[in-house]
Amino acid sequence: MKSQPIHPDFDRVLLNEKEIETICKELGAKLNKEYAGKVPTILAVLKGVTPFLTDLSKEFTFYCDYEYVASSSYHGGVVTSNWVEIYLWPRLTLRNKDVLIVEDIVDSGLTIQKIKQKALSEGAKSVKVVTLLDKPEGRKTKFVPDYIGKTIPKLFVVGYGMDFDEKYRNIPYVGVLKPSMINMNPKDYPWKKGE
Ligand code: 5GP
Repeated sequence: MKSQPIHPDFDRVLLNEKEIETICKELGAKLNKEYAGKVPTILAVLKGVTPFLTDLSKEFTFYCDYEYVASSSYHGGVVTSNWVEIYLWPRLTLRNKDVLIVEDIVDSGLTIQKIKQKALSEGAKSVKVVTLLDKPEGRKTKFVPDYIGKTIPKLFVVGYGMDFDEKYRNIPYVGVLKPSMINMNPKDYPWKKGE
Protein backbone atom coordinates (compact mmCIF):
# COMPACT_ATOMS: atom_id res chain seq x y z
CA MET A 1 0.00 0.00 0.00
CA LYS A 2 1.38 3.43 -0.98
CA SER A 3 1.46 5.87 1.95
CA GLN A 4 0.54 9.52 1.51
CA PRO A 5 2.75 12.27 2.99
CA ILE A 6 1.19 13.77 6.14
CA HIS A 7 -1.51 16.34 5.39
CA PRO A 8 -0.33 19.93 6.10
CA ASP A 9 -3.24 20.54 8.53
CA PHE A 10 -2.14 17.57 10.69
CA ASP A 11 0.12 17.83 13.73
CA ARG A 12 0.84 14.09 13.85
CA VAL A 13 -0.30 10.63 12.84
CA LEU A 14 -1.78 8.45 15.58
CA LEU A 15 -2.54 5.33 13.55
CA ASN A 16 -0.92 4.79 10.16
CA GLU A 17 -2.25 2.74 7.25
CA LYS A 18 -0.17 -0.32 8.13
CA GLU A 19 -1.35 -0.24 11.76
CA ILE A 20 -4.97 0.07 10.63
CA GLU A 21 -4.51 -2.91 8.31
CA THR A 22 -3.10 -5.01 11.18
CA ILE A 23 -5.97 -4.00 13.49
CA CYS A 24 -8.56 -4.98 10.86
CA LYS A 25 -6.92 -8.39 10.41
CA GLU A 26 -6.77 -9.03 14.17
CA LEU A 27 -10.35 -7.91 14.81
CA GLY A 28 -11.55 -9.83 11.75
CA ALA A 29 -10.00 -13.06 13.07
CA LYS A 30 -11.73 -12.59 16.45
CA LEU A 31 -15.09 -11.81 14.84
CA ASN A 32 -14.78 -14.84 12.56
CA LYS A 33 -14.62 -16.98 15.72
CA GLU A 34 -17.51 -15.10 17.38
CA TYR A 35 -19.81 -15.44 14.36
CA ALA A 36 -18.77 -18.84 12.94
CA GLY A 37 -21.99 -20.58 11.86
CA LYS A 38 -24.09 -17.44 12.52
CA VAL A 39 -25.46 -14.82 10.12
CA PRO A 40 -25.17 -11.53 11.99
CA THR A 41 -26.65 -8.20 10.98
CA ILE A 42 -23.93 -5.59 10.78
CA LEU A 43 -25.25 -2.30 12.12
CA ALA A 44 -22.82 0.32 10.86
CA VAL A 45 -22.82 3.74 12.51
CA LEU A 46 -22.61 6.44 9.81
CA LYS A 47 -20.79 8.43 8.64
CA GLY A 48 -17.37 7.98 10.21
CA VAL A 49 -17.34 4.19 10.11
CA THR A 50 -17.29 3.74 6.33
CA PRO A 51 -13.53 3.13 5.69
CA PHE A 52 -13.25 0.91 8.78
CA LEU A 53 -16.39 -1.01 7.83
CA THR A 54 -15.01 -1.63 4.33
CA ASP A 55 -11.59 -2.82 5.50
CA LEU A 56 -12.87 -4.87 8.44
CA SER A 57 -15.60 -6.54 6.34
CA LYS A 58 -13.01 -7.87 3.89
CA GLU A 59 -11.77 -10.13 6.69
CA PHE A 60 -15.18 -11.70 7.42
CA THR A 61 -15.59 -15.36 6.52
CA PHE A 62 -19.23 -15.54 7.77
CA TYR A 63 -22.40 -14.55 5.92
CA CYS A 64 -23.81 -11.22 7.08
CA ASP A 65 -26.40 -8.55 6.30
CA TYR A 66 -25.71 -4.82 6.35
CA GLU A 67 -27.85 -2.14 7.91
CA TYR A 68 -26.99 1.46 8.68
CA VAL A 69 -27.72 3.76 11.55
CA ALA A 70 -26.96 7.46 11.81
CA SER A 71 -26.78 9.51 14.94
CA SER A 72 -25.21 12.75 15.98
CA SER A 73 -23.68 14.12 19.12
CA TYR A 74 -20.68 16.19 17.97
CA HIS A 75 -22.48 18.61 15.64
CA GLY A 76 -19.28 19.35 13.68
CA GLY A 77 -17.26 20.49 16.69
CA VAL A 78 -14.54 18.85 18.77
CA VAL A 79 -16.49 18.26 21.99
CA THR A 80 -19.25 15.71 22.44
CA SER A 81 -22.66 16.76 23.76
CA ASN A 82 -24.91 14.77 26.09
CA TRP A 83 -27.71 14.86 23.55
CA VAL A 84 -27.79 11.95 21.08
CA GLU A 85 -30.21 11.84 18.19
CA ILE A 86 -30.73 8.69 16.10
CA TYR A 87 -32.01 9.93 12.74
CA LEU A 88 -31.59 6.79 10.61
CA TRP A 89 -32.60 3.29 11.64
CA PRO A 90 -33.12 0.00 9.69
CA ARG A 91 -36.61 -0.54 8.30
CA LEU A 92 -36.32 -4.31 8.79
CA THR A 93 -36.75 -5.58 12.32
CA LEU A 94 -33.72 -6.71 14.33
CA ARG A 95 -35.88 -9.26 16.19
CA ASN A 96 -33.95 -12.52 16.81
CA LYS A 97 -30.88 -11.21 14.97
CA ASP A 98 -27.32 -11.38 16.18
CA VAL A 99 -26.36 -7.73 15.79
CA LEU A 100 -22.80 -6.49 15.44
CA ILE A 101 -22.58 -2.71 15.82
CA VAL A 102 -19.54 -1.32 13.99
CA GLU A 103 -18.34 2.10 15.20
CA ASP A 104 -15.34 4.29 14.38
CA ILE A 105 -14.76 5.69 17.86
CA VAL A 106 -16.37 5.47 21.30
CA ASP A 107 -15.91 8.54 23.51
CA SER A 108 -18.65 9.29 26.09
CA GLY A 109 -20.31 5.98 25.17
CA LEU A 110 -23.72 7.71 24.99
CA THR A 111 -24.22 7.12 21.23
CA ILE A 112 -23.34 3.46 21.27
CA GLN A 113 -25.32 2.83 24.44
CA LYS A 114 -28.43 4.36 22.88
CA ILE A 115 -28.02 2.31 19.67
CA LYS A 116 -27.41 -0.90 21.62
CA GLN A 117 -30.47 -0.33 23.82
CA LYS A 118 -32.65 0.34 20.76
CA ALA A 119 -31.45 -2.90 19.09
CA LEU A 120 -32.14 -4.88 22.29
CA SER A 121 -35.57 -3.28 22.67
CA GLU A 122 -36.41 -4.53 19.15
CA GLY A 123 -35.69 -8.06 20.35
CA ALA A 124 -32.19 -8.64 18.97
CA LYS A 125 -30.86 -12.05 20.10
CA SER A 126 -27.42 -10.63 20.84
CA VAL A 127 -25.75 -7.24 20.42
CA LYS A 128 -21.97 -6.83 20.31
CA VAL A 129 -19.92 -3.73 19.55
CA VAL A 130 -16.67 -3.45 17.63
CA THR A 131 -14.92 -0.09 17.48
CA LEU A 132 -11.71 0.98 15.79
CA LEU A 133 -10.84 3.42 18.57
CA ASP A 134 -11.83 3.72 22.20
CA LYS A 135 -11.36 6.80 24.41
CA PRO A 136 -12.28 5.42 27.87
CA GLU A 137 -11.22 8.67 29.60
CA GLY A 138 -14.16 10.43 27.93
CA ARG A 139 -16.74 7.97 29.24
CA LYS A 140 -20.02 9.26 30.72
CA THR A 141 -21.50 5.74 30.96
CA LYS A 142 -20.27 2.32 32.08
CA PHE A 143 -20.21 1.12 28.47
CA VAL A 144 -17.31 -1.16 27.40
CA PRO A 145 -17.03 -2.20 23.72
CA ASP A 146 -16.70 -5.96 23.12
CA TYR A 147 -13.94 -5.54 20.54
CA ILE A 148 -11.51 -2.60 20.45
CA GLY A 149 -8.92 -1.84 17.75
CA LYS A 150 -6.90 0.61 19.81
CA THR A 151 -7.38 2.49 23.07
CA ILE A 152 -6.29 6.12 22.81
CA PRO A 153 -6.04 9.09 25.21
CA LYS A 154 -8.72 11.81 25.32
CA LEU A 155 -7.75 13.50 22.03
CA PHE A 156 -9.81 14.79 19.14
CA VAL A 157 -8.76 12.70 16.14
CA VAL A 158 -9.59 12.96 12.45
CA GLY A 159 -9.05 10.95 9.27
CA TYR A 160 -10.01 7.43 8.15
CA GLY A 161 -13.69 8.43 8.25
CA MET A 162 -13.54 10.80 11.19
CA ASP A 163 -14.23 14.47 10.54
CA PHE A 164 -13.71 18.03 11.62
CA ASP A 165 -16.46 20.22 10.13
CA GLU A 166 -17.23 17.22 7.84
CA LYS A 167 -13.70 17.37 6.36
CA TYR A 168 -10.70 14.95 6.46
CA ARG A 169 -12.86 11.80 6.28
CA ASN A 170 -10.91 10.80 3.13
CA ILE A 171 -7.48 10.86 4.82
CA PRO A 172 -6.25 7.24 4.92
CA TYR A 173 -4.75 7.41 8.43
CA VAL A 174 -5.90 8.70 11.85
CA GLY A 175 -4.22 11.79 13.22
CA VAL A 176 -4.44 14.92 15.29
CA LEU A 177 -4.93 18.35 13.74
CA LYS A 178 -2.58 21.27 14.39
CA PRO A 179 -3.84 23.50 17.25
CA SER A 180 -3.89 26.41 14.77
CA MET A 181 -6.45 24.46 12.72
CA ILE A 182 -8.62 23.50 15.70
CA ASN A 183 -8.60 27.06 17.07
CA MET A 184 -9.11 28.78 13.72
CA ASN A 185 -12.09 31.07 13.26
CA PRO A 186 -14.53 28.96 11.19
CA LYS A 187 -14.83 31.68 8.58
CA ASP A 188 -11.08 31.20 7.85
CA TYR A 189 -11.22 27.41 7.26
CA PRO A 190 -9.44 26.66 3.95
CA TRP A 191 -12.64 25.08 2.55
CA LYS A 192 -14.60 28.30 3.19
CA LYS A 193 -12.42 30.33 0.81
CA GLY A 194 -14.46 31.68 -2.06
CA GLU A 195 -17.81 31.30 -0.26
P1 5GP B 1 -19.84 9.35 22.02
O1 5GP B 1 -21.35 9.29 22.01
O2 5GP B 1 -19.19 8.04 22.40
O3 5GP B 1 -19.34 10.49 22.86
O4 5GP B 1 -19.38 9.74 20.57
C1 5GP B 1 -19.50 8.93 19.50
C2 5GP B 1 -19.38 9.69 18.18
O5 5GP B 1 -18.75 10.97 18.35
C3 5GP B 1 -18.51 8.92 17.22
O6 5GP B 1 -19.27 8.05 16.44
C4 5GP B 1 -17.89 10.02 16.39
O7 5GP B 1 -18.76 10.37 15.34
C5 5GP B 1 -17.80 11.20 17.34
N1 5GP B 1 -16.45 11.31 17.94
C6 5GP B 1 -16.07 10.91 19.19
N2 5GP B 1 -14.76 11.18 19.38
C7 5GP B 1 -14.33 11.74 18.21
C8 5GP B 1 -13.04 12.22 17.78
O8 5GP B 1 -12.03 12.20 18.48
N3 5GP B 1 -12.99 12.71 16.51
C9 5GP B 1 -14.08 12.76 15.68
N4 5GP B 1 -13.88 13.27 14.45
N5 5GP B 1 -15.28 12.32 16.06
C10 5GP B 1 -15.40 11.81 17.32
